[in-house]
Amino acid sequence: MTCPVCGYDEYEIIKSKGKKTRQLLVKCDNCDHIYNTTAEEEVHPINVRVIISEFERSWKSEVELYSDEYLEVGTLLYIDNKDVEVTSIENNEEKRVFECPVVDIKTIWVKSLDTLARIGLSIDNHGTVLSHKIEVERDFIFSIGDIGEVNGLKFQVYAFKTLERNMRKGYAYAKVIKRVYGRLLPAKDKSKVKYDLSEYVIKTTIKDKDRK
Ligand SMILES: [Zn+2]
Repeated sequence: MTCPVCGYDEYEIIKSKGKKTRQLLVKCDNCDHIYNTTAEEEVHPINVRVIISEFERSWKSEVELYSDEYLEVGTLLYIDNKDVEVTSIENNEEKRVFECPVVDIKTIWVKSLDTLARIGLSIDNHGTVLSHKIEVERDFIFSIGDIGEVNGLKFQVYAFKTLERNMRKGYAYAKVIKRVYGRLLPAKDKSKVKYDLSEYVIKTTIKDKDRK
């Protein structure tokens, strides 16, 4: 904007506030008239602080974003050679927000998508539950009714707990499943095994059903 009195376009900045668009109070270099104007700041890269988590592990890193961008929860980014998803954003006022101009971000939290899905597998055997932690490909599909095997035991899947709900029919990807529930089949059962999960087991525990 030029001076409203004389039309001259150079000025001295008296006051400036705001980030993306700066509100300026300026004094005309030609006639000394004082007026308000705005100035777009040039787009520049900003290194934003990131906390990456992968399973129980987490570490600090940085990502380069641009000053004219917005970032929102759920955005996919590529950081430290990993595909990650933004799970939380903290702004400069130390509030957690769903979306935020990049210039106002203090820290973002992301989770790595570059991993196997870690899920629980509980196999029911009349009052005793064999509980496993397994790691499988994120796109591995479990269906209700599947016959599986783990460490020599055959089971049939009867339910899942996913991130959002409990399921008693259908199928789901490992990446959205928290726990698969199966019923132990008798040793003489002749059903064909669809998959053997033995090599994916990280940990096995045996629990009484009433003490969870
Ligand atoms: Zn002027």
